[in-house]
Amino acid sequence: MNDNPVLLSVRNLTTQFFSQEGIFDAVDGVSFDIRRGEALGIAGESGCGKSVTAQSILRIVPRNGKTVDGEILLQENGKTVDLVKLNEFGKEIRDIRGRAISMVFQEPMAGFSMVYTIGNQITEVIRLHQKCSAAEARERAIEILRRVGMPKPEQTIDAYPFALSGGMRQRAMIAMALSCHPMLLIADEPTTAVDVTIQAQILSLMKALQKEMGMALMVITHDLAVISELCDRVMIMYLGKDVESAPAGELFRNPKHPYTIGLLHSVPELGEGRNQEIVPISGSVPSPYRRPSGCTFHPRCPEFMPGVCDVAYPPQVEISAGHKVRCHLYV
Ligand code: SF4
Repeated sequence: MNDNPVLLSVRNLTTQFFSQEGIFDAVDGVSFDIRRGEALGIAGESGCGKSVTAQSILRIVPRNGKTVDGEILLQENGKTVDLVKLNEFGKEIRDIRGRAISMVFQEPMAGFSMVYTIGNQITEVIRLHQKCSAAEARERAIEILRRVGMPKPEQTIDAYPFALSGGMRQRAMIAMALSCHPMLLIADEPTTAVDVTIQAQILSLMKALQKEMGMALMVITHDLAVISELCDRVMIMYLGKDVESAPAGELFRNPKHPYTIGLLHSVPELGEGRNQEIVPISGSVPSPYRRPSGCTFHPRCPEFMPGVCDVAYPPQVEISAGHKVRCHLYV
């Protein structure tokens, strides 16, 4: 159990999207803390609000979206900054991005410009946030490329992103994200775009760097195996809500929310061999514009209680220390 001070405290975060079809809450009153050096995993199917939670923290929500309620409190140097209150295009949030909080994207091509070498791009980030000469920034970039396991970093630093393999590009992206020693690294589906062998290498690299640098990690994924590999705590999201959260060991041993149980049954268990039964969750995530009444999971839930689950959204209940769930079965 990590009892370091809280680094980031998210309270009642609500981010809406606006379109011709209407308005919907992509993130709907979500609260969680990340402590210094802690790894939090956020899991759920596509469209559950995981990535929008990360975009809201960094204030990079797409133009048709807006954080309309809640607080994102960052503790730095004895001060508390509410990121929601900052101008999303202003100097303060630009300084926080990359220096205090940085992000690794699912597809590293999205994080790099194709017309500059990776060295140009990493040194630019270093020089934006740290006072140093061009030569010093290049030295630091080579050092960080070496730390992420990039072969021949003195030469690779002058490569263009398109000239690198998928795995190497992902390492370069992690190097860029770590170049200013952030307090929090957000990784959005960090291994989805690479094959299984590279996936294992990237995960063990991230785990080692997190421990070595003492930074906090927020991993967004649909893959619970990634969470069991990397994370201390887990939050499960469904249609914008934090439906269950717990220490990782507790959640995998003792899942409570029917959605979490469904997610765990829909993936092969690590080390359990090929003959295990995999049961997908029935149906699919509904359109956010047509939310079911009451508990939004009720049309897919094997435990559905008519007249209860379709009437009111369940409140959050703490069923044991740090294990919280939103389900009428536990109210
Ligand atoms: Fe299922 Fe009802 Fe719990 Fe929702 S509240 S997850 S429908 S049992």
